[in-house]
Amino acid sequence: MKRIVSLSALTLGVVMVSFIAFRYITEEPPNSAWEMHNARNRDAKPAIETKSSNPEVGILATASREQEGKPERTQPERVKDTSVVTRFLGDPEPTVVPEHIPDWHPDVPVPAPPPSIAPAPLSTTPSPSPNAEKPLDISPTPTSRPEAESPASCTFFPSRTVGQQQETRVKDYVSTFQLCESKNEVPKVAIRSMKIGGDSWFLLANPDSLTTKIEKAACWSCRPVTEDVLKETRLVRAIKRAAEMPGLTHRTFLENAGLVRGSAPGEFVTGDLCPSERPLDRRFFETLMSNGPGTPVALSISGLWLKNHAEDFQWLMRLAASGALDIIWVNHTYHHPYTPRTPYDETFMLTKNLNPEYEILETERLLIENGGTPSVFFRFPGLISSSALMRTVLQNHLISLGTDAWLAKGQKPRAGSIILVHPNGNEEVGLDLFIRFYSNGTIDRPLEPLVAAP
Ligand SMILES: [Zn+2]
Repeated sequence: MKRIVSLSALTLGVVMVSFIAFRYITEEPPNSAWEMHNARNRDAKPAIETKSSNPEVGILATASREQEGKPERTQPERVKDTSVVTRFLGDPEPTVVPEHIPDWHPDVPVPAPPPSIAPAPLSTTPSPSPNAEKPLDISPTPTSRPEAESPASCTFFPSRTVGQQQETRVKDYVSTFQLCESKNEVPKVAIRSMKIGGDSWFLLANPDSLTTKIEKAACWSCRPVTEDVLKETRLVRAIKRAAEMPGLTHRTFLENAGLVRGSAPGEFVTGDLCPSERPLDRRFFETLMSNGPGTPVALSISGLWLKNHAEDFQWLMRLAASGALDIIWVNHTYHHPYTPRTPYDETFMLTKNLNPEYEILETERLLIENGGTPSVFFRFPGLISSSALMRTVLQNHLISLGTDAWLAKGQKPRAGSIILVHPNGNEEVGLDLFIRFYSNGTIDRPLEPLVAAP
């Protein structure tokens, strides 16, 4: 018994001596691991705490992380600007983003909705056989198939005269969904059909790159298809995935539904052109251009902004034509209704008697008449929507866009963020932040093109 006790005491002594020696050798303070853990957690906290006085800030930040159901992307090393953030945190008042509606009133009647599916103009292919309904992988190795140039006679060259005379008006602009093939090009998906100057034209989407162009229908062989046939394409996957992101679900409306982050490592910059009485804030674009030509920016354009800012719009079109900026036009509805001091479920797209089909299609029609090409992206005014409205966007084959970095609301951009600012003259504070973040490296360069987000 004595031997056992003395053996145990000896073993214990050896262990203690070893432990003390080990600590001495490594010179590690007793609680260093725990302290480091705490320090890491402190650093990992968002730079901007959500403000309780502004429900949208906390709501959006929370929703954006939860709805994707995946861990947050690792933030690359950056220079962080805390001075601006501090200013926001110290501001007791929520940042109000004014949005003006110069010539819209909820009582204004809106036209009846156009049919959601158009007949296939000039379709030379017979009706699809039962076999054609099988899912079709139309671009298994898309990058290996170079994009051929369309003959000039097929391409739509908008001019300043488009839309100014009766014969150049864009008419019969409706949604469609057709798989289109031609001799030299990868197949495209026609999502709109229209008449210009007596000819039939399509708005064609590349189902892999998500880019769009307007081409003469006679140059393509098209047949109506279901989404199921194209379900393996990046386009249909992106549209459906965005439609399944409800954002924050309130009892009577959705907030920040749609894609809020991109899958590329850099940031995506979006600028919303809601109706405004003020001129375009050009310093935003001058900042973008300081990074060299071809800087990508997505502009969510409302029909009323375009109608009331023809000169600013043409200035942007010239920047795009010269290659100074790579502009993607995002649909932001025609009227972009907004009534101040009204519950969210009674304003924006939830305004009574609003026709969502008209809001979507008339914006694109007007854009084409003025020389722009609509993209496959859509952003709800005020980021407010509903399940029914999300379905409408889905049925028109557009990708709903939210944001996880509305700068004026204090949300700080990080890798993959879809950044939101308002260069329509109504949100100078957001542009100030953008310019600062863009200059000091908080926003990575180069920026990502929006088509890389889904
Ligand atoms: Zn807006």
